[in-house]
Amino acid sequence: MLTLRQLFLANNAQTTDFPLLLEFERAQGVYMYNAEGKAWLDLISGIGVSNIGHGNPEVIEAIKQQLDKYMHLMVYGEYVQTPQVRFAEKLASLLPQTLQTVYFTNSGAEAIEGAMKLAKRYTCRNKIVACHNAYHGSTQGALSVMGNEDFKQAYRPLLPGIQFIKFNEVDDLNYITEETACVIIETIQGEAGIRVPDATYMKALRERCTQTGTLLIFDENQTAFGRTGKLFAFEHFNIVPDILVLGKALGGGMPLGAFISSLEIMGSLKNNPILGHITTFGGHPVCCASGLASLEVLLRDDLIIQVTEKENLFKKLLVHPAIKQVRGKGLMLAVELDNFNLLKKIIDHSIAQGIIIDWFLHCSNSMRIAPPLIITDEQIEQACTIILQAINIYTNY
Ligand code: PMP
Repeated sequence: MLTLRQLFLANNAQTTDFPLLLEFERAQGVYMYNAEGKAWLDLISGIGVSNIGHGNPEVIEAIKQQLDKYMHLMVYGEYVQTPQVRFAEKLASLLPQTLQTVYFTNSGAEAIEGAMKLAKRYTCRNKIVACHNAYHGSTQGALSVMGNEDFKQAYRPLLPGIQFIKFNEVDDLNYITEETACVIIETIQGEAGIRVPDATYMKALRERCTQTGTLLIFDENQTAFGRTGKLFAFEHFNIVPDILVLGKALGGGMPLGAFISSLEIMGSLKNNPILGHITTFGGHPVCCASGLASLEVLLRDDLIIQVTEKENLFKKLLVHPAIKQVRGKGLMLAVELDNFNLLKKIIDHSIAQGIIIDWFLHCSNSMRIAPPLIITDEQIEQACTIILQAINIYTNY
């Protein structure tokens, strides 16, 4: 009889020759467990998803209650479905006046597609500005604005008319013109290895977009829901995008994305043609119920105000001659080492010791640290001890 691992390799599509191949049976809080009960501390939150931890009982209860009522009823946007309405209402109550209308999708990439289409439709322009080293998803539109040629070249032709600019480089803002439909940018770059822009750059970006009538799209797939120490990362910069894209932690562990704009801008999806974006499962009622419950837990338990202290503890502990830099904001951190070979050994050792960490798509010498926000000081200390031990083993210090 084949093992689960053999079946996984045989029948589940593989996208690398080196999947992690860990097998978990259940997950609770910051831990994931295998069948023998061995625990792993999840220091990456399933890549920015499990912000309030795994298996939150209130989220599970909300999902169960919605399951008992209904699952899919109709494609998006026709029926008045309570979970979608209540979740959009809650998000709108936490967002500025110009971000009050929510379009729910299945995923982050679908929300990116919707946001770019909306910008083209509203401005009647077709040029898009994006950033080097950006990651916005893996569908063809999102891939077109990915700032890394290695991942794209095999899939060309992609969308035409994309201009890439350097992230956090004020001079490059001149590439935004009266012909640009939108600038799509991560509020803090994730896969580039966590790059926090300067407030002056963000202000100049906002001004340039307003001046040229270009819509500013913030991709907050990785940065929202407290990850950086604010509910949304754009709050750090005192500016507001025209379209906000959410995903990952939005669904509280269930698949959900959203693009959010003003009623006026979003209204352009209704005309010429009608049905400007169609999705069957986008805003699935069970996912919306889960997302709303997760957001309520995040706010009620004041998880966000503890984030900066936890960031500081990581930064205080992760000091070692082999660590070149700890970058990032809140619990969205990159620990820079010398090279990928060293990093890979440290990651493998840490995983063997029960700590899940990994690297970034566009930054191969840095380690990703983005645990659930509920991580305790003691757990941070344990994790850092193991990481430092691993660094000691594989370096000459
Ligand atoms: N934008 C950013 C910044 C992301 O990090 C991701 C996913 N890693 C996406 C978009 C795409 O989201 P999804 O995988 O849900 O399509």
